Amino acid sequence: MKVHNFSAGPAILPASVMAEAAEAVRDFNGSGLSILEISHRSKPFVAVLEEAVSLVHELLGVSDDYAVLFLTGGASSQFYMTAMNILNDNETAGYINTGAWSTKAIKEAKNFGNIVELASSKDTNFSYIPKGYDIPADLKYVHLTSNNTIFGTQFQEFPATDVPLIADMSSDIFSRPLPVDRFGMIYAGAQKNMGPAGVALAIVRKDILGKVERTIPTMLNYQTHIDKNSSFNTPPVFPIFVSMLTMRWVKEQGGVDAMVPHNEAKAKIIYDAIDNSPIFEGVVTDTVDRSLMNATFVLKEQYAHLQDDFMAAATAANCSGVKGHRSVGGFRASIYNSMPHSSAQALADVMAEFAAKHA
Ligand SMILES: *Cc1c(COP(=O)(O)O)cnc(C)c1O
Repeated sequence: MKVHNFSAGPAILPASVMAEAAEAVRDFNGSGLSILEISHRSKPFVAVLEEAVSLVHELLGVSDDYAVLFLTGGASSQFYMTAMNILNDNETAGYINTGAWSTKAIKEAKNFGNIVELASSKDTNFSYIPKGYDIPADLKYVHLTSNNTIFGTQFQEFPATDVPLIADMSSDIFSRPLPVDRFGMIYAGAQKNMGPAGVALAIVRKDILGKVERTIPTMLNYQTHIDKNSSFNTPPVFPIFVSMLTMRWVKEQGGVDAMVPHNEAKAKIIYDAIDNSPIFEGVVTDTVDRSLMNATFVLKEQYAHLQDDFMAAATAANCSGVKGHRSVGGFRASIYNSMPHSSAQALADVMAEFAAKHA
């Protein structure tokens, strides 16, 4: 029996992608060789990389003003690479602090320039997306985390400013259309909504580069990877291949536009299950900020002792990965692009049955 996978990351991928990836490990395109044992400079892999880049351009409507890169070091390396490549020591960048990932990005960026926290929801353990703050026009960039994987909040609208935005979109890339032109840079670790762990996608507007005075180590310089088409050194061949397959799948579904109603319908199943429940409640205080990718919820105070019992009930119903992050507690259902509605319904059913038994 297939397990319903609610893991926050590494996370669910489409079943068809898993099957194609498994076949390519055995025999890549009938070549008699595995995808795991071919050169990154061989024609078949160069074609994979080119298709991956072109699918990013196509799916998100990324113009040629931007470079599309596949890098190693995860989204976490982008926390420092962004500032290192874009911000001079005497320049200032604004950060919106909506959780653990933003906090880490701020810490790393401080090594390279002046960082101001424009807004933060730390006062309530990041239960909402800040609104109504000023953005000085002279900032070099404004950094935000589009979807807060841990806390289950998501920017439904990006801040209104002419300052270029830089966004960590690790957990909602390809889940919706984006106003890419407003961004100086978008980055995402693959392992939430795009592919297996081991690669990060970076979409960089080329004209924001080349303006810092510091010496940037070769491997940490975006220009190196632009000049060498993400193959300065050996790129993560298999994660790029599987990410490409997932992007093909998104395209077959109708692209990122089609992901929106699909994701909304799925999220509604879970959020209705939370809101209609006598024993569960949501974690996000401003419901407009609720993430379509990670739904967080807890047991109401008088039912808090049932934490382990609900985990056991979820496991018995083949729902895996529902435990909340330790900094939030409770439960988290990660319902990325590839999660079918039937899995969301399976979890909603366990929640309802559990409530009927214990309320
Ligand atoms: C998971 C995650 C990260 C960390 O990604 P790594 O690839 O492990 O470095 C960063 N930001 C967000 C929003 C995430 O969800």
